[in-house]
Amino acid sequence: MGDSLFPLSASNEHRMGDPLDLPPLNIPKLIREFELHPNKWLGQNFLIDPTALESVVQAANISERDVVLEIGPGLGSLTRYLAVLARTVVAIEIDPNLIAPLRKVTDQYRNIEIIQGDILTLPVEKLIPSSNYLVVANIPYYITSAIIRRLLSTDNRPKRMILTVQYEVAKRICAMPGNLSLLALSVQVFGSPSLYARIPASSFYPVPKVDSAIICIDLNLEPVIPIQSLDAFFSLAQAGFSQKRKTLRNALSSGLHQKTNIVEEILLEAGIDPHRRAETINLAEWNSLTQLVINRFPEISLRKVQTR
Ligand code: SAM
Repeated sequence: MGDSLFPLSASNEHRMGDPLDLPPLNIPKLIREFELHPNKWLGQNFLIDPTALESVVQAANISERDVVLEIGPGLGSLTRYLAVLARTVVAIEIDPNLIAPLRKVTDQYRNIEIIQGDILTLPVEKLIPSSNYLVVANIPYYITSAIIRRLLSTDNRPKRMILTVQYEVAKRICAMPGNLSLLALSVQVFGSPSLYARIPASSFYPVPKVDSAIICIDLNLEPVIPIQSLDAFFSLAQAGFSQKRKTLRNALSSGLHQKTNIVEEILLEAGIDPHRRAETINLAEWNSLTQLVINRFPEISLRKVQTR
């Protein structure tokens, strides 16, 4: 690790396709200088490996016209790379103690807006000066699902999300029918996730217990299930996944408080074997099932689901 705290390159000097070659930030030195104590409850493991940082921005394929939302900029390791490539970076950091070092590290870039606050409660759609933005972030692990669901369920959804998450969570999000989960469905209904690269735990400071991975989620213009049916779909899916080892027929009948023979009849009408389990049902099948259930029990479409 070099001794310099600050990058030499400035925004707008970069040509597309060139490696960025920013000198590594000396994160331990910054931590000492500002007398910080990385907060593990806030997921503060800072990405220090330049190869991993280059990988994140390669995966993001940022153009100079792009507006990028970064969640949890921390001490600015990734923020500097984003600032060189993007038109504007909006960086939302919850920890007030990190704001001064973050400002110092990113001082030379004029295209970064740093906002101190919680991504889960700030009105993100109002803070982004574009309806066509990217999310690029090494997100805090303790709220991975909450962040993804929050960003996907706003009216102003990003066009692409490039997230560094725990490796096991990345695999769950990208799973195929047979291994689906509520988390996978709640991402895949809005777009197509893919696993871009694995990042070893040693790329972070302090070193976490597990490896991470970069995932890319390309968002569809419209969700796979019509917007007006989404609440009903999530109610159904939540009921379907609520009892892991049960067949879909039994899980839905207890989750929806309906007789098993009625649920079985609807499943058969949707072309789904009632003995299958929720993790095997693909989105087209969930869609058929959702439309039949809405026709039969209109009240289900009015129910709001907390997991979204
Ligand atoms: N982006 C930096 C990097 O790559 O080195 C830091 C990543 S660290 C895994 C996660 C960051 O998210 C921390 O800086 C943490 O303080 C911040 N954070 C945690 N919860 C947050 C929340 N609810 N809203 C915004 N930032 C949050």
